[in-house]
Amino acid sequence: MEYRVSKGLIPQGETAKSHVANRMALAESQSSEQKFTEFENGRFIYVIKNPMPGGGWIGIVHDVTEEKLNEELVRQRSRDLKLQNLRFEAAVDNMAQGLAMFDAEKKLVICNSHYARLYDLPEELTKPGTSFSDIMDHRASIGMVPAAGGKWLSKRVGQLVDDSQSDHNVCEMQNNRFISIVHQSIEDGGWVSTHEDITERHLNEAHVQHLARHDSLTDLPNRSYFGEELKRAEVRIGRGEFWAVLCLDLDRFKEVNDTLGHGVGDGVLKQVAKRLSIATRGDEMVARMGGDEFMILAGPLHHPREAALVAQRVQKELDRPMEVEGHPINMATSIGIAVGPVDGMDSVTLLRNADLALYKAKSEGGSGYCFFEPEMDASARRRRKLERELREAHRDNQFSLLYQPMLELESNRVSCCEALLRWNHPERGLLAPEEFMATAEDTGLIVPMGEWVLRKACLAAIDWPRNVRVAVNLSSVQFCGKKLVETVRGTLKATGLEPNRLELEITESLLHANTINTLQSLKELRSMGVRISLDDFGTGHSSLNYLRQFSFDKIKIDASFVAELENSPEDMEIVRAVIGLAHRLGIVANVEGVETETQLDIVREQGCHEVQGFLFSVPLPENSIKELLSVTETMAASAAGFTNIQGNTG
Ligand code: C2E
Ligand code: CA
Ligand code: CA
Repeated sequence: MEYRVSKGLIPQGETAKSHVANRMALAESQSSEQKFTEFENGRFIYVIKNPMPGGGWIGIVHDVTEEKLNEELVRQRSRDLKLQNLRFEAAVDNMAQGLAMFDAEKKLVICNSHYARLYDLPEELTKPGTSFSDIMDHRASIGMVPAAGGKWLSKRVGQLVDDSQSDHNVCEMQNNRFISIVHQSIEDGGWVSTHEDITERHLNEAHVQHLARHDSLTDLPNRSYFGEELKRAEVRIGRGEFWAVLCLDLDRFKEVNDTLGHGVGDGVLKQVAKRLSIATRGDEMVARMGGDEFMILAGPLHHPREAALVAQRVQKELDRPMEVEGHPINMATSIGIAVGPVDGMDSVTLLRNADLALYKAKSEGGSGYCFFEPEMDASARRRRKLERELREAHRDNQFSLLYQPMLELESNRVSCCEALLRWNHPERGLLAPEEFMATAEDTGLIVPMGEWVLRKACLAAIDWPRNVRVAVNLSSVQFCGKKLVETVRGTLKATGLEPNRLELEITESLLHANTINTLQSLKELRSMGVRISLDDFGTGHSSLNYLRQFSFDKIKIDASFVAELENSPEDMEIVRAVIGLAHRLGIVANVEGVETETQLDIVREQGCHEVQGFLFSVPLPENSIKELLSVTETMAASAAGFTNIQGNTG
């Protein structure tokens, strides 16, 4: 005992003395005892004491320190494991996806609540050991299997497991949900998979993708989608198939937009899109390229000319009158056609050539179709050159004005001089409007050019006798937009010309386009005191109707009626009738293109107020017209006959 005390083998909480006392007491009690004690030096001792029949006892002492420590370790491990399991379960359950793990026997090992919810699994199907096929049967019963069916899916999973493969795909389920499934095979022959319902995201993405490839107004495929399809066709064209590109453009759509507003314009485009869809077949693609430009891709064709049938079919549908927001609208369409491989092998060439053919169709008056011809390429190049030169001309001041006097027959005085535009082309010399006016109108350059003409003409007239007016031609393009009235007002103010000394000449085509906006502008101009003349009368259509829409100050009977006046009784009657009509409406009748004394006599006899033509004077430069005006003023009163004072030729 003393030795044990010296070695520190005394239980914790006891002193050496008390320990010895306790031992002694125990020995006296004679009862059997097993005891487990932790000693101060950290060892664990297990003692079994067996009392002996004759008193005293036999003690078996085990040092169980190692066993005791191992036991602690195991307990600690099991606590750790439990904690880890808790964490794992929490993690699995809190995953954004459904998760399920199956073993090699296709029995469920674990699934999370998300998985159970996703497939609406009853509790008994979420228990470990549930067979995969039972779960699939349940999923099939609620439509949560792909169109190909639950059996198909089971087979596919089996294959993946057999090949120890992983896989990710988005399944569209029979109930229209889109589920993203990631399958991961495990070495032991089982697998784990995650499942996520991405229906909303998928639909959003599909929607975004649709938006990227379709036009938002009409929902037709857009330019980029059309480009993709054309690229695909390119390959087939390369193999010798005929594919047609039809380029459509609505005639005078801009006028509808400008005058009836963008709302109506949009309505027209929507109706056109609908009609195009109706008029085209399933294998023809219709796209909106932007603005009022549409495209059709048709093929493969048996023959290039077959494209004409597509054009006719489409035009027939589009030609029917339409009504948008209560406005009756007649929308004609021009179509340009290029067919690969004849007119080009690649998209760029085909699109360009269809566009050139469209230009031709437009320049022929619209509402028709035109196939591409190689000559169009050359004329397009000329046109582009002209455009470029015209821009330079405007910048470099290459324009000038000539003035042609109009003679008032009763007073034998010049009543007005018409400003006529000329282009002093650096290489080609002096060009008349017919050489460049169409291009100026197409490019919109006519707007700044027209402003220049107006200002220049008003400034010139300031120097003339006050009873002589100046006439300025306006192109219909200048009426688009709302600027014209302000431009005229501003120019009159800036130049100081009295409004009633300005005559604006417009043609019937402007009124044909008709439009509330045009009439409104004309009325505003007129209320300013400016006079309005109807030019080239008789060359357009339904002229008389226009006389009812707006009260003009003057009608100018076109020179074409005068040319045959001496030989054509019909033309004679027409001119007589128009002059008579003008008289009754209180409008000045002007006859243009009077070249002979006989013509003059005839129109004078018919009661014409005013003549204009080479007989009296060709268009003259500014200083010559000034001279002419001072001469005619002085001889006006005395002259009984007709004086020809031709200066420079026009
Ligand atoms: P317009 O308004 O009918 O002008 C009359 C045209 O007839 C002028 O041709 C004039 O030179 C020509 N002419 C005059 N007298 C006779 C004649 O006795 N016999 C014949 N055969 N012709 C005669 P021009 O100057 O070549 O102008 C052609 C057209 O160009 C004009 O026809 C007008 O529509 C347009 N134009 C001219 N200047 C301008 C302009 O500044 N702005 C706009 N927008 N158009 C203009
Ligand atoms: Ca004119
Ligand atoms: Ca004219």
